[in-house]
Amino acid sequence: MSRELFDQALQAAQSFHASNPALSGFQPWPDDITWADRASMPAPCMDLVQTQAGDTACTHSHASETLALQQAITALAPHVEWRLTYTEEEVGVDFLGRFGWFELVGPTGHFHSTQARMTVGYWGDGLYYPWHEHEPEELYSILSGRAEFAAEGEDTLTLRPGDTRLHASLQPHAMTATDQPILCFVLWRGEGLADDPRMAA
Ligand code: ZN
Repeated sequence: MSRELFDQALQAAQSFHASNPALSGFQPWPDDITWADRASMPAPCMDLVQTQAGDTACTHSHASETLALQQAITALAPHVEWRLTYTEEEVGVDFLGRFGWFELVGPTGHFHSTQARMTVGYWGDGLYYPWHEHEPEELYSILSGRAEFAAEGEDTLTLRPGDTRLHASLQPHAMTATDQPILCFVLWRGEGLADDPRMAA
């Protein structure tokens, strides 16, 4: 049943967090996690998460934890509360058909915590995630696929499984998935954890 899949995903996220100093240094694992029993909400992208994951090869020392979390998220994909956040005017119909995110842990997550927020996002190949910003800091970890990450004041980098990227508070950033989709695990910290990002004007 799906509760087991949620528990397995949480366990995989905790092992992934412990295996990667970039994540454990960003924020300790929360000690206030409780099951929130949120209903699932389908989104068009959830099939793609399972059928078009992109490359999973991770060259880092935490490769086995990266793959384990990617597999746990893939198994969980049909059961989560998918969110789209943006409007068709902001991102277009193709984007909304092949993008989605959900909150595994956090103030409005499948597991409740007020100490941390952990989300998972998926973008299909060829999608451009326009410039946006938000108050909390966020640390992206790539689970599968690859994309070009752009952030104001920094070089644009192509990130692959196991790589991380930190976005500072209110630092504008954008992302382009070129020839691969991308699945990301994202840690958040700081003020405004429950706020939605703002697209750049
Ligand atoms: Zn962001």
